Amino acid sequence: MKIYIMTDLEGISGVSSSLYISAAKNRPDLIAEARKQMAADINACIEGCVRAGATEIIVKDCHGGGFNVTRAMIDPRADLIDGNTPGVRFADIDGSDGLILLGYHAKAGTPGAVCEHTMSSASWQNAWVNGRSIGEIGIDAYIAGEHNIPVIMVSGDDKCCAEAAEWLPEAVTCQVKKGFSCDGARMPSLEKTRALITECAEKACRNAKNCTPLKPATPLVFKVELVSRNRMPVNPAYKHLDARTWELTAESMERALFFNW
Ligand SMILES: [Zn+2]
Repeated sequence: MKIYIMTDLEGISGVSSSLYISAAKNRPDLIAEARKQMAADINACIEGCVRAGATEIIVKDCHGGGFNVTRAMIDPRADLIDGNTPGVRFADIDGSDGLILLGYHAKAGTPGAVCEHTMSSASWQNAWVNGRSIGEIGIDAYIAGEHNIPVIMVSGDDKCCAEAAEWLPEAVTCQVKKGFSCDGARMPSLEKTRALITECAEKACRNAKNCTPLKPATPLVFKVELVSRNRMPVNPAYKHLDARTWELTAESMERALFFNW
């Protein structure tokens, strides 16, 4: 069994606000702590996959382009993909039995969700695919679906888990905190959430064959409303709907996301 773990930082155990994820917030101690906890969540997840019989495990660090964990921090039973993989969201995912979205967060604008955003809190206000409001859970589920791979588990706060249940009713959701706002959460002990991640990952891997890959209708229409004016793409393939909203028609979600490549 081959399992692919895509890791973000916002939904990791012990991360309660943007102070933990952005160097611009001037709290290097909290960023270091979040990265340490990210490695621990990843390792708890790997343990669950191995217990369920996974023989190949790939972890990809996708927060801010990678470089949040080092190879030495990750369980040797898994391979780590770090850094830039141009034009490809999940390098080497083909042939996987399931994708785990670890440490994810709710889409931009979700009330009470820790670090809610979609792709970039600085530049994206909202996103839609084929008219449906979408966040990173939906985008990544579509890309995996295009490779015929189902998302089998999503971890994060309660709002992230609710969004995952809406998009992926067959996937296991793993709630490691309860969000009160973009910058506030109630967090159980790290011991509890680590045990929960291992338990959920094992359950998700055993349930992988019952999960269906999520495929978008194509050609798909990808629409993004930006936060700021004067940032619109100049490539004529992007249709300008208003001064801050563009629309792109593409043959796949992955192609739409990496169109600039
Ligand atoms: Zn992130």
